[in-house]
Amino acid sequence: MAQWSARSWRDKPIQQQPSYQNEQQLHDVERQLSQFPPLVFAEEIRALRNQLSDVCQGNGFLLQGGDCAESFSDFNAPKIRDTFKVILQMAIVMTFAGSCPVTKVARMAGQYAKPRSSDFESIDGVSLPSYRGDIINGSDFNQASREPDPERMLKAYHHSAATLNLLRAFAQGGLANLHKVHKWNLSFIASNPLKERYQQIAEEIQSALRFMEVLGINADNNATIHETSLFTSHEALLLPYEQALTRTDTLTGLPYDCSAHMVWIGERTRQLDHAHVEFMRGINNPIGVKVGSKMPEDELIRLIDALNPDNEAGRLTLITRMGADNLAENMPRLVRRVKEEGRNVIWSSDPMHGNTIKADNGLKTRSFDAIHKELRQFFAIHQSEGTYPGGIHLEMTGEDVTECTGGAYKISEEDLSSRYRTQCDPRLNADQVLELAFLVAESLKA
Ligand code: PEP
Ligand code: MN
Repeated sequence: MAQWSARSWRDKPIQQQPSYQNEQQLHDVERQLSQFPPLVFAEEIRALRNQLSDVCQGNGFLLQGGDCAESFSDFNAPKIRDTFKVILQMAIVMTFAGSCPVTKVARMAGQYAKPRSSDFESIDGVSLPSYRGDIINGSDFNQASREPDPERMLKAYHHSAATLNLLRAFAQGGLANLHKVHKWNLSFIASNPLKERYQQIAEEIQSALRFMEVLGINADNNATIHETSLFTSHEALLLPYEQALTRTDTLTGLPYDCSAHMVWIGERTRQLDHAHVEFMRGINNPIGVKVGSKMPEDELIRLIDALNPDNEAGRLTLITRMGADNLAENMPRLVRRVKEEGRNVIWSSDPMHGNTIKADNGLKTRSFDAIHKELRQFFAIHQSEGTYPGGIHLEMTGEDVTECTGGAYKISEEDLSSRYRTQCDPRLNADQVLELAFLVAESLKA
């Protein structure tokens, strides 16, 4: 195989990229970004990789979630805080009810680039380039906004830096303190039918902490009690940006993509001989790859070998996104083959992207039941194949949105328009996420 460099992807065919009009401006932006400080530090990336190595061996669970697409306009502290809190709540439920350590990876602080099924969007006979995420162009439907603008990469970098800064503050500055677990309830969850179950877990944690205090174990001095670690991730789609943030770690001499701790390749850009696989094979971050229902077994093995030639546990997460009606038919053959060939991967379930439908009013939605069904089957298949269901990957928000139908509040298609705020795909709201967390915890225990 030819020598890898952070720019060797440029010699390969590439999908889903914008065509920038002003090359000089693009180069200027790339040069600036390559001189900016890294957003994350290689040592942190290695810490995540170590945790994922445990997950891969059946000792832990990967919880990955956040927005489908972050946006520049909807950028504020309460939004970041609420998504952070929901991730923490989910992790608490899964850790205590499922008795399993949880590695938390947010789809945040960089999730700005979107693959699209069509290059153009037509409304009332007017055709314009599709919206590709705030790092590329604007979502407003007019020519100026849809024009790809390289300067947006600088803005994405700064927004990511500010988001990360707040996430780190929340994680280490007291918000994640287990003594406050009962306060993580978001206000609108007050009427949630699952509130009591959550309160019960919170109460059990409080008594465990009190018990430790009685024994003289000072929980307040213990970082695991008052701090947490939250890693960041996004789809590494816009390769000029990812290349510019790729750095050689001085400690190990190895290249890391320092735009996030974990990055993944989407279903539409994982062609073996294309640019995204080329870029990802050379960085040393833990990486993910989305796997849809049409994936042939041979191709999956070749993809695994391209991305993880040394077969290291924790390096590669396969994120299945097949749809509730296709998973049972297609996942067993892949799981079986990977097991037969002895490849070390984490199997994680994205029950969102194979279950997107259009409601009668034209809004994109997903039903809670379909999401739940895909997850249930994911766990059942791993159980019957003797493999380990290592994680879930969700599109979710801490906000009280109405984007996915169903759940305890039985959101109907008619309800969708009341608080439909997503920039791209429909997300689970905080109540729906908590409900799923309890369901997952049951499966983890089983
Ligand atoms: C996504 O995760 O937002 C996404 C576009 O997923 P996929 O590549 O699986 O379609
Ligand atoms: Mn999405």
